[in-house]
Amino acid sequence: MFADLHLHTRFSDGTFAPEELAEEAHRLGFGCVAITDHDTVEGCPAMSRACAERGMEFIPGVELTAELEGLEIHILGYGFDLQDEPFLQAMRRFQTVRQQRIRDMVARLNEMNIPLEADRVFALANCRSPGRPHVARALVEAGICRDLDEAFERFLKKHRPAWVPKSRIPAHEAIALLHRAGGVAVLAHPGLYYADPHLPELVRAGLDGLECFHTKHSPSLTEHYLSLAARHGLLVTGGSDCHGYNKGQPLVGSVRLAHEFVVQLQARIAQRTAERQQKLHSTLS
Ligand code: AMP
Ligand code: ZN
Ligand code: FE
Ligand code: FE
Repeated sequence: MFADLHLHTRFSDGTFAPEELAEEAHRLGFGCVAITDHDTVEGCPAMSRACAERGMEFIPGVELTAELEGLEIHILGYGFDLQDEPFLQAMRRFQTVRQQRIRDMVARLNEMNIPLEADRVFALANCRSPGRPHVARALVEAGICRDLDEAFERFLKKHRPAWVPKSRIPAHEAIALLHRAGGVAVLAHPGLYYADPHLPELVRAGLDGLECFHTKHSPSLTEHYLSLAARHGLLVTGGSDCHGYNKGQPLVGSVRLAHEFVVQLQARIAQRTAERQQKLHSTLS
């Protein structure tokens, strides 16, 4: 039994529908999956049903963009209450900011006399949580770029002319937001940015886990983060970060997390859920 706890669907910048992803994971022999779309949990109900139909365990997840002393980091959330209204409100705020960023990037392109309409990007994205890959797709569709890579290289990569920085919330706020909704907080792909010196601070802020297994982590990097997780008493998670066909080949299947880590994650989710119930009760009485 193994798991993939980092998957994107078409509710953000992945290309698979939840049902397609569940089917693919099932075909590959996974026993447990979590979807972690950027700033949205809209795919969770459909994924939950699709997993149940196939006898797979499902964990609701999300990926938040956060900041720590100027460094962009990604925080994965798991096991929160999907009905938590303040949490859902926060997601809607993040989505509004994402949509405005698309308009800003399109405005930059228009200033360069590239005729692209924000509404075309939104239509292609067909979701509330659009991102740069959708702008890239629109540029390809309009015949302005040959492929997504060219769109990023010419326009969308950091410091390229149409790039607009992404808004980020302080890391401790992302962690608190997840805890208040009864979820756990995990630092995503720590090998993709140098956050090691900040780990103690994140742990003090309540960070629960470290995504040690990730498609882009070499075996030695994985070992490094496994030892850091042990040193800081953090849970271990892992996932492929599959985006479907948005980034070349779909990566689902490239990371197979041992189920013992899922058991520990579920225990922490139960603990965070109980803490949330206690807080709700103490504010009511
Ligand atoms: P955003 O969240 O809007 O800043 O967009 C980030 C997404 O764009 C991530 O999923 C990246 O992996 C993806 N991305 C970055 N560079 C490229 C590229 N050269 N080709 C395709 N996707 C990319
Ligand atoms: Zn993404
Ligand atoms: Fe990420
Ligand atoms: Fe991701």
